[in-house]
Amino acid sequence: MLELKKISKVYETEDLKQTALDCISINFRKNEFASILGPSGSGKTTLLNIIVGLDQYTSGDLIINEVSTKKYTDRDWDSYRNHRVGFVFQSYNLIAHQTILKNVELALTLSGVSKTERVKKAKKALKEVGLLKHMNKKPSQLSGGQMQRVAIARALVNDPDIVLADEPTGALDSETSKQIMELLKSVAKEKLVIMVTHNPELASEYSNRIIKLKDGKIIDDTNPYDGTVNTKEDLEVEKKKPKKTSMSFLTALSLSLNNLMTKKGRTPLTAFAGSIGIIGIALILSLSSGVQNYINRVQEETLTSYPLVIEESSIDLTSAINERREEILNDKDKKMIKIKKLLLIIPLLIL
Ligand code: ADP
Ligand code: MG
Repeated sequence: MLELKKISKVYETEDLKQTALDCISINFRKNEFASILGPSGSGKTTLLNIIVGLDQYTSGDLIINEVSTKKYTDRDWDSYRNHRVGFVFQSYNLIAHQTILKNVELALTLSGVSKTERVKKAKKALKEVGLLKHMNKKPSQLSGGQMQRVAIARALVNDPDIVLADEPTGALDSETSKQIMELLKSVAKEKLVIMVTHNPELASEYSNRIIKLKDGKIIDDTNPYDGTVNTKEDLEVEKKKPKKTSMSFLTALSLSLNNLMTKKGRTPLTAFAGSIGIIGIALILSLSSGVQNYINRVQEETLTSYPLVIEESSIDLTSAINERREEILNDKDKKMIKIKKLLLIIPLLIL
């Protein structure tokens, strides 16, 4: 149901080409618990990110349910991520200000499921990981092992076919790690679980397949699969069509309001900062138009001291007036420009 065909991933930075995955081919069974082992930098995280569609392969092909992902659109990837795979992170990635019920429920908001259905499914998932009675606690009120259970419940709530876990026990003590492994093992009875781990003992104790990576290559696979023994059940699962990803308007609205309410301090502060900017611009505009008016008035007053006189004999005073006028204006203009500059700087300083 999930097959990697000669997948390579090359990261290109300014001065360096880094081959994170080098022509990897793996075929996974419909349900198994596969562990991926390898030293740091061997490409484990890159492999998971490519399987979950968070990163794109450079060459090769990823086959999901016998369909090549080469022509997958963004929408296809969204739909796949929201309905077919669940991801468990080492650092849990829980939302701190939401209860754990809400944390699990949130994974369903993009699935177009109604609110009551969401709560029902989230409670069921929390029950499966043994945390139902803690559902109204915030993540900070839980232990590391419990937080990882919430993360697993969140990965399971959508009933995905594939569950991926990146070092899920990396931050846990050995006893708690075992409990998490038991949980993943039971999940793997019905689903494909792919787990990256640093711990070979846990991998060999709990998983039924160990794939070893080194420098982006597979150096060992304890239980390879060639994809030929597809049972009827396999084919049925493969035909399961993913639904479209969607979120109702009300859900979106309630999520945004919720988000706004949790940042009570930040919202007025942003509004305050924004208004300072707007007030500043208004101040600059009004000052500059006021100064312009003042200049016009001064000009008019200055020129009224040269009234129009009609005489019998004509003398051409125009040039004399113009000269004098320019002198006065130059003088006034210089002063005005100075005042204008000063007035423009004051609001900028305030900002
Ligand atoms: P692992 O999870 O096994 O420790 P990774 O998959 O994170 O290894 O990384 C594999 C290699 O790819 C490493 O050499 C790493 O430096 C490189 N790499 C990973 N992500 C990036 C990235 N975003 N940009 C450039 N290089 C990366
Ligand atoms: Mg890693």
